Amino acid sequence: MSARDWIEKDFYAELGVPPDASTDEIKKAYRKLARELHPDANPGDAKAEARFKAVSEAYGVLSDAEKRKQYDEARRLFAGGAFRPGGGGFGGFGTGGGFDFGDLLGGASGGSGGIGDLLGGLFGRRGGAGAANRPKRGADVETEVHIDFLDAVRGATVPLRLTSPASCGTCGGTGARPGTAPRACPGCGGSGLVTRNQGAFAFSEPCRDCRGTGQIIDDPCLECAGEGVSTRTRTLTVRIPAGVDDGQRIRLAGQGEPGRNGAPAGDLYVRVHVDPHHVFGRSGHDLTITVPVTFPELVMGTTLTVPTLDGKVSVRVPAGTASGRVLRVRGRGVPRRGGGSGDLLVTLRVDVPRDLDEKAKEALEAYAAATKDHDPRAGLAALLEHGKG
Ligand SMILES: [Zn+2]
Ligand SMILES: [Zn+2]
Repeated sequence: MSARDWIEKDFYAELGVPPDASTDEIKKAYRKLARELHPDANPGDAKAEARFKAVSEAYGVLSDAEKRKQYDEARRLFAGGAFRPGGGGFGGFGTGGGFDFGDLLGGASGGSGGIGDLLGGLFGRRGGAGAANRPKRGADVETEVHIDFLDAVRGATVPLRLTSPASCGTCGGTGARPGTAPRACPGCGGSGLVTRNQGAFAFSEPCRDCRGTGQIIDDPCLECAGEGVSTRTRTLTVRIPAGVDDGQRIRLAGQGEPGRNGAPAGDLYVRVHVDPHHVFGRSGHDLTITVPVTFPELVMGTTLTVPTLDGKVSVRVPAGTASGRVLRVRGRGVPRRGGGSGDLLVTLRVDVPRDLDEKAKEALEAYAAATKDHDPRAGLAALLEHGKG
């Protein structure tokens, strides 16, 4: 438990008792709420489950005279404005808007001595088993999906089977066998930390009785062995946006591993692998295609019919077009996010016949004879002469 948890949470309000409530009143209020909110009484109700955990946490602190005293002192200190979470005074510490005493006071690295250790008795430090029962965002998960070239261009909806840890469905994430409930650890009052005094210094360390979780589970859930988390196979439907490219990642917020103690879940990243197409290729948002042409077509010019993603298009090849030339057809490429499309790039490549019949061969020989004065390699002549010398 961090300083922030203590300051931001109102354990009295959680249990619905006044700040000067007696131990008996606290106990009574807790028992009533625990009965009402227990996961068994509210199957599948995530809200009740979160409340149940919050109430258990509040009771864990308020039921322990020593912890309650520390909590009251901490609240008084912060209510008085000595430190204000997220306030301007600490803006420069790079805690990302959050507030963690361990960071500010150098306690995070476990340095000995100093004010961090003094306050360590009051507030848990970052990291270590002692932090096990504080809210923790779920981990991000990455997975892969293979999709067809045309699906990538047009966008598609694909089912995705995922095996990942999720809140245990049998015990609702409490780790306790259905019908039973975890109880606040008596060794640490539910905080997961015990305070050890040594001279003027107070150290806090993870509670050994509960391994820092703050809870004792007498009768563990068989499904998850008391962990509250079990492996579950989910099928998600992922919408692949039109125009996605090979290797891109799609982020699905909140579809990663579940968070602990009410913290948000992590994100799911889906890496998209696009299978190649037998005709089309891609260069960013431009769609590419290589179209075989004959030598006479390039020489005399022609109009080609070229396939596109949604039909066909006529492409005029001017007379005297060079082999390898790329013709651009505007707007017939891959859709862009936010509107519009790339272009279709048509590469012309001369198709050379393997064998010709007699008549064609004679015609070609006649053509060669008629054009023998044209030397296509004239530009290289000077270089060849130079190489000789
Ligand atoms: Zn379970
Ligand atoms: Zn404990």
